[in-house]
Formats: sequence, structure tokens, C-alpha cells
Amino acid sequence: MSARILVVDDILPNVKLLEAKLMRDYYDVLTAMNGPEALSKVEEESPDLVLLDVMMPGMDGFEVCTRIKANPATAHIPVVMVTALTDPQDRVRGLEAGADDFLSKPINDTALMARVRSLVRLKMSTDEWRMRENTATQLGVVEETASVTTQSCENAKILIVEDKDFELSKMREALERDHDEVTSVTGGREALELTKTYDFELMIVSLNLAQEDGLRLCSHLKYTERTRHIPLVMVGGPEDMERIAQGLEIGAHDYIMRPVDRNELLARVRTQIRRHRFQARLRSTYDLSLSLALTDSLTGLYNRRYLEVHLQKLLEKNQDSNKSLAVLMIDIDHFKTVNDTYGHKAGDEVLKIFAQRLKDNLRSFDLVARPGGEEFVAILPDVSERRAHMVAERLRHSIADDVFEVGAPEGAIPVTTSIGGTLIHPGEPNTYLEALERADASLYQAKEGGRNCVVFEGVGKLDPALYQEQKRSLID
Ligand code: GH3
Ligand code: MG
Ligand code: MG
Repeated sequence: MSARILVVDDILPNVKLLEAKLMRDYYDVLTAMNGPEALSKVEEESPDLVLLDVMMPGMDGFEVCTRIKANPATAHIPVVMVTALTDPQDRVRGLEAGADDFLSKPINDTALMARVRSLVRLKMSTDEWRMRENTATQLGVVEETASVTTQSCENAKILIVEDKDFELSKMREALERDHDEVTSVTGGREALELTKTYDFELMIVSLNLAQEDGLRLCSHLKYTERTRHIPLVMVGGPEDMERIAQGLEIGAHDYIMRPVDRNELLARVRTQIRRHRFQARLRSTYDLSLSLALTDSLTGLYNRRYLEVHLQKLLEKNQDSNKSLAVLMIDIDHFKTVNDTYGHKAGDEVLKIFAQRLKDNLRSFDLVARPGGEEFVAILPDVSERRAHMVAERLRHSIADDVFEVGAPEGAIPVTTSIGGTLIHPGEPNTYLEALERADASLYQAKEGGRNCVVFEGVGKLDPALYQEQKRSLID
């Protein structure tokens, strides 16, 4: 993974030193010697991370950071402030300017590299989601999620694992300023138990627990499916630096040094919560856009795109099975007349009820799609010929037997459907197009044969009398 890192410092030897350290780990390094130069490089080169000196003549690091974070095009780029200052007030100023972390000079190499790796990783995964969202936005199915800085950070659900009362109450007090909902436990076992039933947005874990190794707990939380995506902040003393570096390496998002400064804690927690909520939103817009892209908005059934891809997969799977797969092409009879007589809106209602009746009469693993218009397709995996016939007859009945109540002034609408079916046997070479064509040819015969009937390829029109007594139980 080669990431591009922008190093900003007004003192040349500092720039050279950082550049050398980073290049040794195969990072691509860009440099800037002052604020304005840094801002233009951030915009033009979109680096994956910025290491930013605080003390610079003219525009200082706080200002540069504030501007990077205020620009929606660059706000997602992580910024690490690098400074000789150790006053907590300055750290807080930096974090409030939106910095993602602080490193003190002289820079501890382990901390630097672990930090760089973990922020770059985070940036890459956010980029991935931003890209998917971007595609969805271009397709016009979703609106863009605002930027990471506009996410709210209050009322967060936070879990603290800490066995020292004094430290705990200090953290609690800081977090309650943001109305965070804080749950605390004194050990890993309890923590793991709670995470099974409760969705936390952030976990704070002490590396100095008396009864157990906090780092082990962090590692466990990061390897557990349910908790691995939750931001994890470690708390430790200066003597824990090696373990903190290890923690960042295995995926902890951040750390805070004892004695815990309330403002710094709050600022770091806010950053993590904002990022977490931003990522969660990107993910859910993506899921939404995916479902919008693959389903039909009127009936909620799968659309043509999904049908084609899925049918192809089923056909490939069917090659190695010893069962057959049925494809049913289902078309409403004289639907144009329904529209002409009752109006397009009533027509839409009919389509919805029609879709629901098909769903109600199929097994959960059968697939039903609306590839377009008043045409539907059902795919029945693992069926015998007789069962396929029974299901098709049953579907036809489910439409014709009861009138459609759509609230049209003329009252209920009688609807019938014609169904063309084909059975695809194992080993038959088949593409989804061939399969659909075969079913469509049968549908054509059903329409020719008078409508409100089922025709199967190689069998002809089914005799409804043979299936009249079949009840639902025989289909399931
Ligand atoms: P056949 O029995 O031969 O299938 O006759 P038909 O009238 O059902 O078939 P035709 O293909 O001539 O007409 C289909 C009609 O379905 C025409 C079109 O306006 C209507 N239609 C297609 N999509 C929709 C829709 O989403 N809503 C409504 N209300 N009507 C639709
Ligand atoms: Mg029709
Ligand atoms: Mg049609």
C-alpha cells in the first residue's frame, strides 16, 4: 500500500528528517515549507495524510488545518499536527481545528509509523465508500452525504473499560458535557458480554487494568466481527508507548495519555464519533442505493438487472445439481384495457397487488422479478416437473380467482394472467437469455391459446382440472 504523505514544516532539516523516515517505509512524500504552499498542495495533489507543523511564520498550523477541514473537497484527509509544544491547551486547539492526531517533537519513530499506518488505512477505507457513494450519486439514486466535519458528535453511546474510579469519573464528567451515554465496566469479560446486545459507537479501553491485559482485550475487540468496526481509543501512560504502538497496529483508532486531560479526551472522542457516523452514513446510503438500483420501486420486486445476474448464477449452479430449475414468464392479460378503462393509477395498483399475490404464492427462496411493464418472471430452483406445473397453475389461480380491489370508482377489477414455463435440466448449457427466450416462447403460445392459461415448453397447455385440488401445502 503506497500512500502519499504531505510533510509541512518551515524548517528544512525537519522536513528532510521526516521525509527520510517515511521514504524508508516506502511512502510517497510531498513537502511544503509554509501554510499557503501546503494548502495548494493539499488541493492539487490530494495526499492521503498531512503531517503538519504547528509553529510556522505567517499562517500557522492551526489555521492550515482549519482550512483543510473547512473545504469539503479536502476535509476527509487526515491531519497530524507535529509540534514541540506539550501544553494540553495547544493539543486541544489542534484537535478543535479538526486535526486527527498530535505528535510531539522529538518524534518517537514507533508512534509516528504506527500512527501513519493506521490513519492511512482509515483514509483508504473511507475513500472506498466515498467512491461507491459517488457512483450512486452519479446514477442519481442518492444525494451525497455531507462531509465528515458536519456530522454531529453528541449523544454518543460510549463504553469505557477502566477499573480506577478516579480516572473513570474524570472521563465520565468530560463526556457528559456532550450528553454522551456512558456505560462503564471494569473488565473485558463484561465488556464483551455487553457488546453482544448493545451497539456502541466508541470504546475506551484502559491499558492499565489490574486484573488483565488491556491490550489483549483491544486485540480481541478488533478481531471480533461485532466490534471490529467500532472506534477504539486506548488510555495509557508514557511507559505504555510500545503497547500503544502495537494497539494502533492491530487497528485501535486512537490513544490518550495519562493523566487524562478532559478537553483533549472530549476533542478526540468527538473526532472519532464524527468519523464513525460519517462512515456509517456512507455505508447506509450505499446499501440504499444498491437496493434502489436492483429493485423496482412500484412493486418492490427485483428488477431486470438483478434478474439477469441472478438467473445466470442459478443456471451455473444448476449445472452441478441433479434437480431442475423452472423459469416462468408471467404476463397480465389485456392490461392495456385495464389502463384504458380505469386509468393509469388504478393500473399501478393492479401491478402492486399482482406482485404481492405472486410473492404470497411462492417459496421464500424462489425469485420473483418485474423486468418491466406488466411482465413478471418467477424462478423456482430445485423443482420437479410436476411441482413446477402445480406452482404455475396456482399462480394463475391466485390472480384470476379474486377480483382486484383498487378503489377505482368502477369497483373491483377482474384480472387474468398467462404464464409460459420452461424447465432447465441439469447439464443443459444455458444462458439467462436462452432461458428467458424459452419461457417467452411458451408465453406466446399461452396468449395464442386464449389467455388465462399456463403453457409449458414440450408439454403444451396445462389442463386446469388436473391441478384444481392442489392446495398450498403441496407447493411448499
Ligand atoms: P396481452 O394480453 O397481449 O399481454 O395484452 P396487454 O394489453 O397486456 O399487452 P400490451 O403489451 O399491449 O400492453 C401492456 C400495457 O401495460 C401497455 C402499458 O401502457 C402498460 N404498462 C406498462 N408498464 C406499466 C406501469 O408501470 N403502470 C401502468 N399503469 N401501466 C403499465
Ligand atoms: Mg399483457
Ligand atoms: Mg406485454
